[in-house]
Amino acid sequence: MIERLFYDPDIQSPQIENIASRLGLFPHKATKDELIAYVKSLPLEEKFRWGKSTLFLSRQKGRFLKKCPGSPGVVCCNYYTVNTVTGCPFDCTYCILQNYIENNPFITAFLNREDLIPEIASHLHTHSHLRVGTGELADSLALDKILEESLFFLAMIHDHHWHKNITIEFKTKSSEIETLLEAHKHYPEVDVVVGFSVNLPSFTEKEEGNTAPLEKRLLAMQTLQKHGIPLALHFDPLIMLPDLLSEYQRLAQMLFSTLDHRLIRWISLGGYRHTLSLAPIIEKRFPRSLLLAGEMFPSEDDHKFRYFRPLRRQFYHSMLATIEKIFPGAPIYLCMEKQFLWENLSLPKDRCAECF
Ligand code: SF4
Repeated sequence: MIERLFYDPDIQSPQIENIASRLGLFPHKATKDELIAYVKSLPLEEKFRWGKSTLFLSRQKGRFLKKCPGSPGVVCCNYYTVNTVTGCPFDCTYCILQNYIENNPFITAFLNREDLIPEIASHLHTHSHLRVGTGELADSLALDKILEESLFFLAMIHDHHWHKNITIEFKTKSSEIETLLEAHKHYPEVDVVVGFSVNLPSFTEKEEGNTAPLEKRLLAMQTLQKHGIPLALHFDPLIMLPDLLSEYQRLAQMLFSTLDHRLIRWISLGGYRHTLSLAPIIEKRFPRSLLLAGEMFPSEDDHKFRYFRPLRRQFYHSMLATIEKIFPGAPIYLCMEKQFLWENLSLPKDRCAECF
């Protein structure tokens, strides 16, 4: 997956050697600007291929802990994000990171992740609880064997006695759970949730390049539950084409009849939405993508394109009814959706008490 390793000449860390030896690669010195200049010379598809197989080790100069930016006009679920890694070896057709290919073409891991500790300490000074996730600009577990992110976060929460104050979520489309299972063995008291994106198997195969197929994700979910680790399920992006609704309902029935409901902490539903700038990239790179099949309309608040309101309402309504039948009282919320839809669907926020 990772074919070359670079590190910023300004950083010194034993982690460089550790990561290099786990990858079996020699680490080369290069600045971010030098790497970007090289990538700019490549044709578009080669930029992606090169960037997704290149790991750059660097130092984060800004803050790590941020409130999820959400979107103007949508219901906020009070989530915080930590970006210790940006970029991803996977290649999903709908990935927002495609927008940043010119300035952030490769995977960057920030080795000064300890700088996050005072940020969290300061947050907990004024808040009793923090629900936080990695994986806003990356896949949380895709490179966990190499970067040992889960081990770092669980050890940090344990060492600072924050296990009652922090819920940490790792969001993934991989089935890379070995490092996390090992970390959980050492720090079982830490409140960790593994969030899996789930979608139709045919969609995953065609539109979520290099990710784990659904059956492997399901196997990983069952293994985690066997070890007492709770899950989150993210039905996102839901491709709201009318003939796909029954397939999504079958997917939900299969998942919720297989998994242990007591170890499902939250479920999100999110219809596909995109920014205007992403559309031409999808058209160019993935002209046969299902994302281009539906008619979408811009929103006044956040200028994102979404499916027609009645179609979204019908889709969410049918999905909620299906899940409710098999998992009564399921902790469901809508991701990046408008207030009126919550009201239309009579979806009370206390259904997912942890999130609000
Ligand atoms: S897994 Fe997430 S970050 Fe990675 S390519 Fe897919 S959408 Fe982008």
